[in-house]
Amino acid sequence: MVRLRQHGHFVLGDIAVRCYEYRSKRTYDERDIRRAAQVFADFRLDPGDVIEVQVPPYRERDDQDPEERGRADWRERVASWMYWHARDKHQLERPHEERDDNWQRIGVGGMPGELTWEEFIAASSGSRRSIGNTRPLELVTRSDSGPFLPRAYADLLDRWEQVTEEIVAKARICSRCRAQGPRWGAWRTPSPLGYITLCPPCSGATFQRYTGHLRGVLYESARTRSTRADGYLCPMCAETRAPVWDHCYDRGYVRGPLCGSCNTCEGKSPAHYFLRDKEGSALHLLECCGCLERRTLPARYHAALARMHLEATERHLIRSRRCRREPRVENIELDHGAYRFELSCWWHDARWPKTVTVVEAAMLVREFVDQAFADAQSNAVVPAPRAASDNPSPGWPRETP
Ligand SMILES: [Zn+2]
Ligand SMILES: [Zn+2]
Ligand SMILES: [Zn+2]
Ligand SMILES: [Zn+2]
Repeated sequence: MVRLRQHGHFVLGDIAVRCYEYRSKRTYDERDIRRAAQVFADFRLDPGDVIEVQVPPYRERDDQDPEERGRADWRERVASWMYWHARDKHQLERPHEERDDNWQRIGVGGMPGELTWEEFIAASSGSRRSIGNTRPLELVTRSDSGPFLPRAYADLLDRWEQVTEEIVAKARICSRCRAQGPRWGAWRTPSPLGYITLCPPCSGATFQRYTGHLRGVLYESARTRSTRADGYLCPMCAETRAPVWDHCYDRGYVRGPLCGSCNTCEGKSPAHYFLRDKEGSALHLLECCGCLERRTLPARYHAALARMHLEATERHLIRSRRCRREPRVENIELDHGAYRFELSCWWHDARWPKTVTVVEAAMLVREFVDQAFADAQSNAVVPAPRAASDNPSPGWPRETP
């Protein structure tokens, strides 16, 4: 699914098979599938003619140039599986204080850290690791210096890289203005005929801006059902079309249209992540007129704000001084009118419990909502305080004396 969004194809070996979409059903052309199958049936390799697979040096994902990250690179992908297990083994077998970066070094047998080939294969079994929908690990042979693959298969994987890069490059181009977008399909937007590529300005020009057309309307109403969300630009990211109406589960009101990615972020990612890292999240939640009137947020955000408060303020003591590290906060449960949390500091092996009452959490929510309004007012285009209070932005509460 990720690849379909990114480039709209299914890559079998070195053949890209185009996916078509019609009335939200995805299909392939049978002739394409047959052609790909024939190429595979004709594929021959000589198991005696092998080349050595050099494991590339470890690279931190965050250090990579965004252009490089996720590039089709089969050697890099096989290596990333190995490094993953090498680190896992290192961390499992050593206490905190003895952990270092040695698992990143290529050691005996061309494997990273202390990982052996047998351990790697055992850990990989059942995970069906594939590249271009083929299984490289099943074709590997070994010598003391490192892993080997049949030459014909390595050549096939080289062509897989090339084919994949070509379709990714094509899918990055805005279909209206031909500008080039990011590698990972951020400009891809669903349409009745499958994903298309539109840059943010072209999306803005194509889709209508949402200005509260359904504010105060219940999600389960005839009006919502008869109004299409997909004519609007997603108001949260303002980058792509919004296929769905988002609504407040607690109070039932429509909050506005959202694109798939913003909607997933609201519904599926941890609530504290959505509030902290997604720009405009608070104001979007307050598009629900029930929450807006009470200056509150849905229940799941109460626990999230309590958690964020603890992360910001709670520290354990080391010899009567406050630890400088932010604690990890987990195990949230609601019990007898209080949220219970378990806090821990990885650096000092410390654990301690903490509770936040429902009333305290509601106060944190109120503060958060007020702050969101204050920030929005100060960022507003009309900064004069008088104009702002005489004529508040639509839907926003007036200042109470
Ligand atoms: Zn464009
Ligand atoms: Zn969005
Ligand atoms: Zn609500
Ligand atoms: Zn600590």
